[in-house]
Formats: sequence, C-alpha cells, structure tokens
Amino acid sequence: MDIRKVIVMGSGCSGHTAALYTARANLKPLVIEGHEPGGQLSLTTLVENFPGFPDGIQGPELIENMRKQASRFGAEYHLGHVSSVDLSQRPFTLHVGKHQFHTETLIIASGASARWLGLPNEQALIGHGVSSCATCDGFFFSGKEIAVIGGGDSAMEEATFLTRFATKVTLIHRREQFRASKIMLDRAKTNPKIEFLTDTVVEDVLDHSKKEVTGLKLRNVKTDKQWELPVSAMFLGIGHIPNAKVFEGQLDADQDGYLKTTNNVFTRVPGVYACGDVQDRRYRQAITAAGTGCMAALEVEKYLEEHGQ
Ligand code: NAP
Repeated sequence: MDIRKVIVMGSGCSGHTAALYTARANLKPLVIEGHEPGGQLSLTTLVENFPGFPDGIQGPELIENMRKQASRFGAEYHLGHVSSVDLSQRPFTLHVGKHQFHTETLIIASGASARWLGLPNEQALIGHGVSSCATCDGFFFSGKEIAVIGGGDSAMEEATFLTRFATKVTLIHRREQFRASKIMLDRAKTNPKIEFLTDTVVEDVLDHSKKEVTGLKLRNVKTDKQWELPVSAMFLGIGHIPNAKVFEGQLDADQDGYLKTTNNVFTRVPGVYACGDVQDRRYRQAITAAGTGCMAALEVEKYLEEHGQ
C-alpha cells in the first residue's frame, strides 16, 4: 500500500499554502484539487487587500502563482473530488473517483461554495442567466440590465464589476443595513449604473419556459408589495456554504456546517487539520486562509516528527 505523509484536500489559498509549506519540509504533499480548482480566488477579479501587491493582483493570477510556487518545491496535484473519507483507521483513506489514497496526515482546505437562494426555477436557469460568478458570466450580459442579490462585499464587488458590461445593475438586498465594508459599499453607491433596492426579496426567477432569465418576481418585506423586475440575469452574492459534508459523523461541525477547530486548525482527530474557509466563518479572507494553511502545515510537520516519521 502506498502511504503518503500528507494529503491536502483543496486547492484554494489555504490548500496551496499548506502544500507549499509541507513541500518545503520535504513531505511531498499530494493536493486533491476538488470540484472548484483554485477556490474562490479563481472566481474573483482584482484583489487589493493581499499584502505584497501595491497595485492589486487578479485573483486567478494570484492563485496560479501559489500553485506554481508549491509545485516548484515538489507538491503534486490530482484533479478530482473526494467522495468519501475514512478517518477511523490509520492510515486515513480517501476515495477520489476510482482512486483510493492513503495518508498519515490530512489537511482539509476544501473551502466553501456559493450559496443559492433556493427559488423554484433557480437551478433550471443556471447557465441561462442565473449565475454565482460575475467574472465567469458577466461578459454575456453586455448591454443588458441585470440584478445582483446580497448585501455583503461579494455583492458589492460583483455589482461594481458587472457595470463594465451591463447598462444597469439593480442590487437587491433583503434588509436596509449592509454587511459590506464601507469602502466597497461606497464604491457601489457612487456608481451611477447601480440602483439599490433594499428590504426586498426575490420570490422567483422568470422565465423557465423560455429557458432564459427575463425577470425577477420581487416582494418588499415591509409593505408586502409584489412586482416583476425585467432583467436578463441574476447574479448571486449571498455568501457560501462550507464544503465539509464528506466529514459528517467523523469530525465536529457547527450548525452551519463549518468544521470546528481548536487552536486554529486542530480537529478532534489527531493528524487531521482544517484550515481556510471550511473552518472559518469569521474572517474568510485570502490572507487568513493562507495563514491557517501555513499553521496546518506546521502542525503536520510536528505531528509526523512526534510520531517518528
Ligand atoms: P457575507 O458577508 O456573508 O454576506 C452575504 C450577504 O448575502 C448578506 O448581506 C446576507 O444578508 C445576504 N444573504 C445571505 N443569504 C441570503 C438569502 N437566502 N437571501 C437573501 N440574501 C441573503 O458574504 P460575502 O459577501 O460573500 O463575503 C464573505 C467574506 O468575504 C467577507 O468576510 C467579506 O469581507 C469577504 N470578501 C471580501 C472581498 C474583498 O475585500 N475584495 C470581496 C468579497 C468578499 P444579511 O446581511 O441580511 O445576512
């Protein structure tokens, strides 16, 4: 049986950082890339708050650089998605498609995926005007009127970015107060192409029969007034769900599914560490994900040393 010293699950910011550190410690990490290689940075535009880039850097370029850096020191990458894990026996076993991998230690850096509204016709219209990725799909709506849902930094960022293509962006938020940082909110508010609709929820997206988005059914939560807003696309910026389902029953998670850790990265199974957005519901920044990825890697080194590896 081929037993790895360490496997890193996930190839976002925390995964690549964990891979870089464990590779430089000569542990020859194997990174299972997951179903969204590169994680959330690969779906974003300009990143202005990652230290070291005074003019900012495009998210996909930043993540590609991290991958190159880890590869240079010997990290290996396997494109695939972990379908099940067994942490009850050592070495741990991971099932990835038809492959099985065994490892002494595991770093979980599986991140979080976009949240959907759960509307009756939402899933059927994904790829036909419903999207969670402005960077990927914004271009298709050049010259059109569109909507962005959410009140956090993601929604502000998406709305601002989408004004490059759309003639008008309506930002729809369910409350009057915003979770977004002041700078990002101000940027969106001063953009003449963005109109704000607050205290408003989306009840459904139209038009399933035409196989394209033609409008949204909206409701004001204070007045209960309902109306239809004609738009060609709906972009979601309503947060993320941690990718931790595969650990159900084996590791502790909170009520929203985030893995519980102590001392930043320790799970309740010795030798298994969690880092980045899968365990961080508070900070969720690229730099904090990189930070905990580093911590997890250092703990792996310590664990292997203490266990005579
Ligand atoms: P977030 O801060 O959790 O905001 C999610 C927003 O979506 C909230 O306004 C929330 O409304 C709304 N929402 C959630 N579920 C909803 C539902 N079912 N229906 C309608 N609205 C719903 O998530 P985020 O904006 O993705 O940001 C996550 C983290 O990444 C944050 O720490 C943020 O600062 C960071 N981030 C940073 C940047 C940047 O600096 N460049 C860019 C993007 C994200 P309520 O407010 O009513 O709960």
